[in-house]
Amino acid sequence: MAFEGLSEKLSAAFKRLKSKGKLSEADIKEAMREVRLALLEADVSYKVTKDFVSKVSERAVGAQVLESLTPAQQVIKIVNEELTALMGNESARLNSPAKPPAVIMMCGLQGSGKTTHSAKLARMLKGQGRRPLLVACDVYRPAAIKQLQVVGEKAGVPVFEMGNDNPIKIAKKAVSHARDYGNDVVILDTAGRLHIDETLMGELQGIKKEVEPTDILLVIDSMTGQDAVNVAKSFDDALGIDGVILTKLDGDTRGGAALSVKAVTGKPIKFVGMGEKLEDLEPFHPARMASRILG
Ligand code: GDP
Repeated sequence: MAFEGLSEKLSAAFKRLKSKGKLSEADIKEAMREVRLALLEADVSYKVTKDFVSKVSERAVGAQVLESLTPAQQVIKIVNEELTALMGNESARLNSPAKPPAVIMMCGLQGSGKTTHSAKLARMLKGQGRRPLLVACDVYRPAAIKQLQVVGEKAGVPVFEMGNDNPIKIAKKAVSHARDYGNDVVILDTAGRLHIDETLMGELQGIKKEVEPTDILLVIDSMTGQDAVNVAKSFDDALGIDGVILTKLDGDTRGGAALSVKAVTGKPIKFVGMGEKLEDLEPFHPARMASRILG
């Protein structure tokens, strides 16, 4: 499970603090050193870690904390609040379209979990009474359309495909199909590549321009840590994303990507993938995640 190491290290640091009763500035400094190491080991970038620790330290050495009856608890409370803020404070929802259908454009590198999460999202929205349409815009991998059809069927959601036709044309046709057939949300499963390249970005920019998505969601693999955050930064710079779906959090023992994406890109994590099954998708709640980290 995510954050195991981080949780353990933080709880050890706070246990030492609690055992001290009244705290000195030096005690807090020592605890902050441990927080810093714990974050770096969780694969949070140097800069994000540094900013986080300096914010917490600044608040923690205030007279109110040092002179309070339960200073260690106060420090933990500050860390909890700052972790929540680091991950974006509020839980971010999907955007609403000016008029239906909503168009959700899923993008990301190959293997990040894009197709699986297109179907997971479709299933979740269907459960909320929406009428989603999945669209196969990944025309380069021969197995991609088939894969979307398989997961679409599992989710009980129709799949729109036009073979290996032009993805921009497919996206446009799919939106008008959705209008004709009463689908109020269109989920575009776009092509992934092994690396970010101009062709990939050019195609995504083309789709964006053509259908003006309500949400551009970037799917990133939590297990790749800081790399995932760098991918998010590049996609956001080139395409402008609305949010992130962080996948495979179930297998990520460190959690660095969850902690840093918002700070680095300014864009929120909207959902997290917690397993291979279609029901393993959750909206992301920063406050709950922070409490989970602090045990
Ligand atoms: P795509 O190439 O980006 O479309 O990625 P896929 O949707 O094909 O997913 C790649 C692999 O990751 C598949 O084996 C999925 O079952 C697996 N996967 C996707 N999401 C998750 C997740 O949240 N947790 C786990 N453990 N595996 C996942």
